[in-house]
Amino acid sequence: MNAQMECMSCGTTLGIAEIAYTCRECDGLLDVVYDDAPGDPEELKIRFRERRLSDAPADCSGVWRFRELLPFADFSHIVTLGEGNTPLWDVPRAAAWAGIERLTVKHQGMNPTASFKDNGMTAGVTQARAVGANVVACASTGNTSASMAAYAARAGMRAAVFIPDGQISLGKLSQALDYGARTLQIEGDFDAALALVRELSDVDPVYLVNSVNPFRIEGQKTIAAELCEQRGWRVPDRVVLPGGNLGNVSALGKGFMELMDWGFIDRLPRITVVQAEGAAPFAAMIRDKAPTLTPVPNATTRATAIKIGAPVSWPKAVRVLDVCGGEAITVSESEIAEAKAVIGSDGVGCEPASATTVAGLRQLMDCGRASRDEDVVCVLTGHLLKDPDFTVNYHFGRLEPGAELANEPVRVESNIEAIRAALEG
Ligand SMILES: *Cc1c(COP(=O)(O)O)cnc(C)c1O
Repeated sequence: MNAQMECMSCGTTLGIAEIAYTCRECDGLLDVVYDDAPGDPEELKIRFRERRLSDAPADCSGVWRFRELLPFADFSHIVTLGEGNTPLWDVPRAAAWAGIERLTVKHQGMNPTASFKDNGMTAGVTQARAVGANVVACASTGNTSASMAAYAARAGMRAAVFIPDGQISLGKLSQALDYGARTLQIEGDFDAALALVRELSDVDPVYLVNSVNPFRIEGQKTIAAELCEQRGWRVPDRVVLPGGNLGNVSALGKGFMELMDWGFIDRLPRITVVQAEGAAPFAAMIRDKAPTLTPVPNATTRATAIKIGAPVSWPKAVRVLDVCGGEAITVSESEIAEAKAVIGSDGVGCEPASATTVAGLRQLMDCGRASRDEDVVCVLTGHLLKDPDFTVNYHFGRLEPGAELANEPVRVESNIEAIRAALEG
């Protein structure tokens, strides 16, 4: 589709093949904008669906299956691992805990590298290839680096990962290492690592694939299309998302807004953004109706994927809340831990950051800001096995004193009598 990049602040435009991450005039965020609609929505819905019967790599991808919605002209260079196509599951125990009649989760942790970052990364690395880059780089709380390392390896590119020293989970670090990325542990937090990699990409021939890169957002927005498709194009009343750097909120919001503009859907969902109390600059901004975001200097939360004090995409996230309606709220560490175990009790494993969604929904129900009969989808962003330490510590009672759902293993003598007794207890 004919598209260009446009600065959200001053409207300056750039060609789609330019290498730029922010506006050259004012440093504002860049958006991909389209000259016209992709075509007849009813025909396209059938085409998206029919691609599921094809074995061509692009058709097997839950991102490239929707390629008419994306700003790429040439599809011969796609770097794909068959991302997307993630399940939508009913979670009745989590629904009961949150106080709502019915709840579904869209599990983005069921992606090739086990987080929603793959949906954006396939587009980011494909664009890197289209502009002739040989090296891709990112700062990461873990999942971006895992995803980037995998896609770079598939594309035969070099990958440089900047991670905050000692602050990412081993599951995520192990992925970046195994996929061969040059992994730099930076003294300081995510925000410091991002500042450094942005500086580097401004002068060195290194292509930046953090979510400030608008092509990441384009890939990620297809989560909205896939979600609607799975529901027969019935839009939920509300979509709940965790908020870290706010790329995901920006992407899903853009996805829904475009689907609406282009006639695929007839209304927008409300969007609820949930942040951890210790890393909640966006929720504070929305609460205070502040005109700009004030960064939190030393963001803290055990949900390391959202341990971000200076989220880059906040202007896009504000736009999403303005257009879709919704709110930004915070949840405590113990609410996150309990919600995660509740989701687990439905047989669905996610990482702590993902559990903010169900914790946030419960809070909305408690204070009457959402109703029992609402049709809600919580987006689970990453897989349980990304951060097994958190889960094991919770169940051993080391995380939260008096954790209600703690499920410690039981030591038992190796004889049948003792085992029977243990099973009865
Ligand atoms: C990256 C990430 C987030 C935060 O997403 P943003 O786009 O940075 O707001 C939440 N959960 C998980 C598991 C992540 O990997």
